[in-house]
Amino acid sequence: MARRTQKKPNSRIIIGVVFILAAAALLTAVVIYTSRGQKSTPASGASNGQGYEAMTYAMNTLVTQKIYGAGAETAALEINKMLARWENRFSMFSKDGDIARINAAAGLGGADVDPQTTALLQHALALSAQSGGAFAITIAPLTSAWGITTDTPRVVPEAELAGLMPLVNDSAVTIQGNHVTLPEAGMGIDLGGIAKGAVCTEVKNMYNQLNISSALISIGGNIYAHGTQPDGTPFTLGFRDPAGDETSYIASFAMADAVIAVSGGYERYFEQDGTRYIHIIDPRTGRPAQSDIASVGVIHEDGATADFYSTTLYVLGLGKTLAYMRSGGQAIVLDMHNTLYVSDSLRDSFALRPGMESTYMIEYIAAQ
Ligand code: AMP
Ligand code: MG
Repeated sequence: MARRTQKKPNSRIIIGVVFILAAAALLTAVVIYTSRGQKSTPASGASNGQGYEAMTYAMNTLVTQKIYGAGAETAALEINKMLARWENRFSMFSKDGDIARINAAAGLGGADVDPQTTALLQHALALSAQSGGAFAITIAPLTSAWGITTDTPRVVPEAELAGLMPLVNDSAVTIQGNHVTLPEAGMGIDLGGIAKGAVCTEVKNMYNQLNISSALISIGGNIYAHGTQPDGTPFTLGFRDPAGDETSYIASFAMADAVIAVSGGYERYFEQDGTRYIHIIDPRTGRPAQSDIASVGVIHEDGATADFYSTTLYVLGLGKTLAYMRSGGQAIVLDMHNTLYVSDSLRDSFALRPGMESTYMIEYIAAQ
């Protein structure tokens, strides 16, 4: 019997990085929005003009924004509406979204989609081609079979895996103009490994359009720092404790004008007969990844790239992740033995949380 160790995906808060707020009084207001972007539960908050906080559920996860300056409330609403539109477009579960229609037309001639969808697919395919087979947007047959993020996860038998693995093949996706084709029935696109990071670019564009120059947004495991804090200093973020709850962190670091995407096996999983099956699948084995990394956060100015690398490096493991860091990639990695590997470029701001010094070791990795 499968034992569920997670709550319903929709009710689970997944944050790889946490905002560190000096005090609750920093918030002018806390409001909850529905995924349609309508205010549903206004709550009171301290009002000292320091920032505006809004929460919603979108893209199957909790979204939190902290926005500074005039127009913050309007911006929060507009972003929430935009995220609901993008969720529909990119979710393989929505009925009429672009990805759902592409998947439904697998082996049947393909589907016409929005130019923004083809742009993201091109970007994702270009990245996945560099992953050494660790990342595939055509992973859907495997993620659907395992169902780790659904209410009905199961261990997929080897014989079934053997039939599904040939369907995972990014090089078979064809994009002609706005027409996207998956050649074989049973193929499918799952953008779960990249969409939350990619949408940060749209968030950035919308903040700019609305003259917001200072904001933080957390979308599941990804945080985008838009500009700096109002005083010009970078935002301070916390790197989550994989063993703790959604708000506990083990170290802090500074970030501005960038996205950090975090992947880890602690986010979504189920356990059966003492084995943990996580939501990141290794396309090379067809099975949930068995990584020597507890959690990896990748920092990049392009959100899609950060999100792609966090998933890919988790699958590839510590050795390849350290190589990525040595080649100039910026990352924070926690291994299974409480060592944190941190890009040397973060050294000035990186600090263990007080009290954590005896638990964690830090090793800085310089670009070579
Ligand atoms: P992330 O949390 O960004 O690491 O993404 C995990 C999500 O990406 C999963 O829930 C799946 O939707 C999808 N996914 C799982 N394995 C892979 C993979 N090897 N390549 C691309 N996407 C994946
Ligand atoms: Mg990712």
